[in-house]
Amino acid sequence: MRRPVYLDHHATTPMDPRVLEAMLPYFTEKFGNAASRSHAYGWAAERAVERAREQVAALLGAAPQELVFTSGATEADNLALKGALELYTQRGDHVVTVATEHKAVLDTCAWLERSGRARVTYLRPRPDGLLDLDAVAAAIEPRTVLVAVMAANNEVGVLQPLAELGALCHERGVLFFTDAAQALGKVPLDVEAQRIDLLACTAHKLYGPKGAGALFVRRRDPRVRLAPQQHGGGHERGMRSGTLDVPAIVGFGAACALAQEEMAAEAARVGALRDRLWEGLRSRLDGLVLNGHPERRLPGNLNVSFVGVEGEALMMGMRDLAVSSGSACTSATLEPSYVLRALGVHEELAHTSIRFGLGRFTTTEEVDFAVETTVRAVERLRALSPLWPPAGAPSPGPAGAVAAGEPGP
Ligand SMILES: *Cc1c(COP(=O)(O)O)cnc(C)c1O
Repeated sequence: MRRPVYLDHHATTPMDPRVLEAMLPYFTEKFGNAASRSHAYGWAAERAVERAREQVAALLGAAPQELVFTSGATEADNLALKGALELYTQRGDHVVTVATEHKAVLDTCAWLERSGRARVTYLRPRPDGLLDLDAVAAAIEPRTVLVAVMAANNEVGVLQPLAELGALCHERGVLFFTDAAQALGKVPLDVEAQRIDLLACTAHKLYGPKGAGALFVRRRDPRVRLAPQQHGGGHERGMRSGTLDVPAIVGFGAACALAQEEMAAEAARVGALRDRLWEGLRSRLDGLVLNGHPERRLPGNLNVSFVGVEGEALMMGMRDLAVSSGSACTSATLEPSYVLRALGVHEELAHTSIRFGLGRFTTTEEVDFAVETTVRAVERLRALSPLWPPAGAPSPGPAGAVAAGEPGP
């Protein structure tokens, strides 16, 4: 077992060796520029890109021509939001989004507001992380251009009701944009069934390389148009100029093809490991709070707060595990996760939250090691803590966990 045990698959995934194998020839003998139309080197590169485009599109239920390759989901998020708001100025200037979106969406929205290009409504999800459809319906105005709601949250793994959101947006005549960076390859997506107009995704979250992503841009019913945010050679139907990173795009395609084959079995296996982790923790520890919806979440996600410990000390005690904490170190201060805060999780509990992210290569042995390491760290800290056991709680309490939104023990 390699240490630290990697349980941070929401941050990035290790590349699948089969993906690397598919990429390798495009660094060396097949080095052509996919935009070179006059010789065989260019044609081979172009063929490889078009095959990858088909593979990515197939996983989304899209047509290949509807995909614009980008450097990743951040760029795709920027292109979707800025591109739509710039093009549809006649239609309006308003965006509806959610407080728990990724920074690539929130910071882009903030820039649109600051620069006077848009007004933005930030909806607050329910305490379990799910968005209330009535709240979305109520937030749509006559001048709303676009609704941006992520498919799966990168911290708590919550899966939003895409089909319902898509139907609502279509009925109201506004564009539906979803950041699906966490969802692609983990849960089924279908831009037709879910009526998605714009979708951002990235290769490195599904065992592909870093630096390749895509934006799905619907071609009909409605035909979505975007103002390009990068100008140059007119690549990618003019929506994203710049020489394509052929090896990375080939890897993205290979990763999508593997996911299409293996997603169902993998979700069941990873989901069972995640359940084993949760059961292991809660059979041995009291005072756990599960953050996010207990069922409607990514199979590999478990986000837990530990009552009565200090967040930073907990991370220090878990150095054999590569996990993320709900405390983000911004310069001098320790900020609690804005996602957990938006779900109404108390600041102290947000600081003690750990995001476990399991993936394709996670083993049972690693999960059992994670349980052991976490239990030991929590018990040691609680033995020293004036906050444990919590005032008024029977000690030692019966083994029990509380669901999101309920008061802790
Ligand atoms: C990782 C991630 C991004 C950023 O993707 P990059 O390809 O790293 O730019 C955006 N949105 C979500 C939800 C993510 O998880």
